[in-house]
Amino acid sequence: MTETAVTDTTTTRTRAQHVPENLPSRIQHFIGGRFVDSVSGATFNVLDPVSNQTYATAAAGQKEDVDLAVAAATDAFVAGPWPRMKPRERSRILNKIADAVEAHDARLAELETFDTGLPITQALGQAKRAAENFRFFADLIVAQTDDTYQVPGSQINYVFRKPVGVAGLITPWNTPFMLESWKLAPALAAGCTVVLKPAEFTPLSASLWAEIFRSAGLPDGVFNLVNGLGEEAGDALVKHPDVPLISFTGETTTGQTIYRNCAANLKGMSMELGGKSPAVVFADADLEAALDSTLFGVFSLNGERCTASSRILVERPIYDDFCARYAARAQNIVVGDPHDPATEVGALVHPEHYAKVMSYVEIGKSEGRLLAGGGRPQNLPEGNYVSPTVFADVAPTARIFQEEIFGPVVAITPFDTDEEALELANGVKYGLAAYIWTSNLTRAHTFAQSIEAGMVWLNSHNVRDLRTPFGGVKASGLGHEGGYRSIDFYTEQQAVHVSLGPVHTARFGAH
Ligand code: NAD
Repeated sequence: MTETAVTDTTTTRTRAQHVPENLPSRIQHFIGGRFVDSVSGATFNVLDPVSNQTYATAAAGQKEDVDLAVAAATDAFVAGPWPRMKPRERSRILNKIADAVEAHDARLAELETFDTGLPITQALGQAKRAAENFRFFADLIVAQTDDTYQVPGSQINYVFRKPVGVAGLITPWNTPFMLESWKLAPALAAGCTVVLKPAEFTPLSASLWAEIFRSAGLPDGVFNLVNGLGEEAGDALVKHPDVPLISFTGETTTGQTIYRNCAANLKGMSMELGGKSPAVVFADADLEAALDSTLFGVFSLNGERCTASSRILVERPIYDDFCARYAARAQNIVVGDPHDPATEVGALVHPEHYAKVMSYVEIGKSEGRLLAGGGRPQNLPEGNYVSPTVFADVAPTARIFQEEIFGPVVAITPFDTDEEALELANGVKYGLAAYIWTSNLTRAHTFAQSIEAGMVWLNSHNVRDLRTPFGGVKASGLGHEGGYRSIDFYTEQQAVHVSLGPVHTARFGAH
């Protein structure tokens, strides 16, 4: 690592900034086992969120680049060894990938922090989680069983599972590498070949996959990477007739566009979309645990977390106390240089996103009672920094209650009865996650089952067993991934029907 003087051309500002060693100034596609530029030579600028200056140019993929990547993936699928390998052979390579990913943890964290603005302590460990995804699916495919149905003496029916083909994977910029692993691991485990289109705000870490896969022995053409803008490279991938399925994580409105564009080719789709998840805190809850979880839930990962508990519903008897203690903790959160291990909230990913979050902070000032934050920290005049911001007394009609902000901003709302809490919790278009804090067992389960959310955590922080379904309901997504559900998504299940003994067909024309 080095401390480099960064000169801001607009303000002639010069200051020390952590810049990773050997930072590439050029980010390319990876197609058919080779790093390449766009056919047209087009590029786009990549900024770091602390200086907001261009540190690299990335190849801007267009239709012709996507065509080349899909052709390479199709060749590898049709003629290459990967889809035909025994599960044990694929599993060995997936485990080697996991080893290689883990070995990159420090480098990955440094690059991810530089590119995304995530605090370094939260970026560390992402490689471990990414590696765990590969180990999990390596285990799953060797343990995979398929169904057989017997009609004694007459028929046997069995399910023959086959990889679907070239999978199009489109990912967002929050925890980019980890989210990519979430799609890459099951797609590759299932025997698909892939074209990955990472988010244009954060293309840096995706390039690491190429070397990791090569060192683990993944055949050329199985993994392809096309960088570029969503409306160009992403769109071309979605519309490509030789890509039978799209796994997408991102905003709900983008998901809707992709859904429409997949219709022409009737593609398989998995959609992990936005959220506005409630944390419901009843008066009988373990308050300290609820405070810890709801603070971490919305301020970790800079608030750029799909499952963030960005609406906190608090039962009236503890409302004032909760708000006061919550605000005091929020004011104490350390905002600063993402590379500083003391930092709890770093810099938001991009000036465009910073402007969006700041606009919600301003909207919130007329919609709620500001208890903490409310703007840029005074000691950080540059970079995409937002103070952890807490609004209380937020009405359910407020925009900051209804809309996903995806930053360190939280809305707190009181409730009087279980029915009211449920109505508030379900009163938004999203349904990704929900968190419930109560010591009443009956209420906990009844409430959990009534809430409109794909995932519920009861008296629990956001931790997940990889075997469980992951996904949202309502505007938060379509389909569930996780465990065998992911393998189901990336495979076709063909039913084979076999006669045992005489064939009992009505003999048309034989009389
Ligand atoms: P985004 O929708 O803007 O972009 C996501 C990806 O889609 C990017 O790679 C982008 O280039 C691509 N894209 C954009 N337009 C496209 C188009 N027309 N065709 C094809 N691809 C296109 O999302 P974002 O801002 O990168 O990410 C933040 C969002 O992601 C938030 O809404 C967050 O809640 C959501 N998210 C959801 C989950 C989940 O599991 N549910 C996880 C992480 C993030």
